[in-house]
Amino acid sequence: MESNAAHPQPAPVFSIVAPVYNERELVREFCRRVIAAMEPVGEPFELILVDDGSRDGSGDIMREIHAADPRVKVLRFSRNFGHQVAITAGTDFARGQAVAVIDADLQDPPEVIPRMIEQWRQGYEVVYGVRAERQGETAFKLATASLFYRLIRRITNVDIPVDTGDFRLMDRKVVDVLVTLREHHRFMRGLSVWVGFRQLGLPYRRDARTAGETKYPLRKMLKFAVDGITAFSYLPLQLATYLGFAIAAFAAIAIIVAVLLRLATGSNALEGQATTLVAVLFLGSIQLIVFGIFGEYLGRIYDEVKRRPLYIVGEALGLEHPGQRGR
Ligand code: UDP
Ligand code: MG
Repeated sequence: MESNAAHPQPAPVFSIVAPVYNERELVREFCRRVIAAMEPVGEPFELILVDDGSRDGSGDIMREIHAADPRVKVLRFSRNFGHQVAITAGTDFARGQAVAVIDADLQDPPEVIPRMIEQWRQGYEVVYGVRAERQGETAFKLATASLFYRLIRRITNVDIPVDTGDFRLMDRKVVDVLVTLREHHRFMRGLSVWVGFRQLGLPYRRDARTAGETKYPLRKMLKFAVDGITAFSYLPLQLATYLGFAIAAFAAIAIIVAVLLRLATGSNALEGQATTLVAVLFLGSIQLIVFGIFGEYLGRIYDEVKRRPLYIVGEALGLEHPGQRGR
């Protein structure tokens, strides 16, 4: 197709937002499949690729795709800002009446988007994908993910559905609210539930990656989990109080036992430095852990008060700059 500035594009009804980080092998095939899935829907759409600081040449490929098909738009970050921020930036720039967020690695099949659109037309304002089946993930990833989603559901006060990722379609109303939430350590799948509205889970089969490798090593997965928990729960902070009460109760019993033993036997029943040493080390480590938990929250508060922009745009192809977005 020809890129032609003289014929302005019709306003998109649908926006598809995809974060891309070093996906050289996949990005062409991804765009082809999204376009093939969206064309039969019969409404104008835009595909916004957010290049999250790729360094493998994905950027050049995306530029070529944009030149050939102006429905594909590209937002290039000045460096890597992370998956969740990339999704945020894409929704910031999206113009559609409904906005779909999808991973660019083809694990979320683009063919599911028209099914989401059907539900959106029925009046649902958020249609999120529920991973009914997951192909090609390690047993470790499946087990930790399942544990994490169940844990976060228990300890937070938002009903974050089990086994959902960021694959979802959101109505303009929802997106307009979502883009006003500018917290730095973002857990988008939580935020999009937190905003409320009429939500529906749509089961789908999550495929294996067709090429490339996961950009979420264990270290990033852990950070992501802590972001999710701290963003929606104070329970870890309250742990200090609970631990304090539990240890105080234990100490009270221990004092009584020590006194009774002394009275009964006449000798010092709890003897030796080992007892003292163990008690001091135990309490000391609990205190350090609690400090560490405080630190997790404190660091996140510090990031908020610095008020740095969420991301820095290096280049925008086919996108209008949306005012102060990025802040
Ligand atoms: N991604 C990104 N920035 C990052 C890491 C990942 O934009 O820092 C993109 C990546 O290109 C992919 C999506 O986010 O489109 C999901 O990442 P990935 O497939 O590596 O995560 P997984 O599916 O293994 O959890
Ligand atoms: Mg993936």
